[in-house]
Amino acid sequence: MSKYVFGVDIGGTTVKLGFFDVEGNLIDKWEIPTRKENNGSNILPDVAESILKKMEDKNVSKEDVAGVGVGVPGPVDNEGIIHKAANLGWGEFSVKDTLEEIIHMPVMAGNDANVAALGEMWRGGAKGYDDVVMVTLGTGVGGGIIVKGKVINGSTGAAGEIGHIHIEDNETECCGCGNKGCLEQYGSATGITRLAKKILSEDNTPSSLRGKDISAKSVFDAVKEGDEVAIRIAGKFGEYLGKGLAAIACVVNPEVICIGGGVSKAGEVLFGYIRPSYQKYVFHGSRDAKFVLATLGNDAGIYGSAKLVLDK
Ligand code: ZN
Repeated sequence: MSKYVFGVDIGGTTVKLGFFDVEGNLIDKWEIPTRKENNGSNILPDVAESILKKMEDKNVSKEDVAGVGVGVPGPVDNEGIIHKAANLGWGEFSVKDTLEEIIHMPVMAGNDANVAALGEMWRGGAKGYDDVVMVTLGTGVGGGIIVKGKVINGSTGAAGEIGHIHIEDNETECCGCGNKGCLEQYGSATGITRLAKKILSEDNTPSSLRGKDISAKSVFDAVKEGDEVAIRIAGKFGEYLGKGLAAIACVVNPEVICIGGGVSKAGEVLFGYIRPSYQKYVFHGSRDAKFVLATLGNDAGIYGSAKLVLDK
């Protein structure tokens, strides 16, 4: 019987690694730099070396380890094949097979946002639920969808891209994906800043946001102080996000919608802006989905990738 499992979350600048027992208790976590030179060819060997060293330090043998789960910033299909991770310089190849050949232990791989959803379901804000929609409001809007405890990867690993649901026909600027009017353009931290600048320029209503550096944090801090313009910005943000989540809910009928990422630090005040729009647009059968906050923060990815191995 395996006693331990490793979870790895590969990001554009650092790789986070976690050493867990099979119950999901985090025993140790650490980081190594992501070496992106030579098309990221050092990244997986670095991960293997770091894990093997940790096993030596902890006096753990391969027989005691269920395997290594890896979350990657790009679409990963059910076979563990990445279909391009621009941030890492990676093209298309099997993350699973490549790392298994180096480390000689079972490997599972998934998209980082999808595995973060799994982590929140296992040990975080969505613990105790099987049907989860997780949305991560950071620089972009990431998503992960879990149905009956399983992450939906889709045919090429591109499922759960909630941030690129088309939500606004009258948009002139492009989203990072090249389309116009994606949810990410209004629901992310940068999206909220854009909305704020637009709404502030529409009239001269006094606001504590005027003349300040605008961020998602400053907007929601002002909301908590009752600032009229900030409340209007939050309303617009919630309108878009609720509409996007309603579209997802019509497809997967979640028990719970888990909100994470930097913007979620604003706390439950967000729900007051998202839920009314969600309930207005969603099919009645999904109207009672619960809203919860993610609790694992930046560790969601290592938890979820470890869980991928235990679920295989
Ligand atoms: Zn987009």
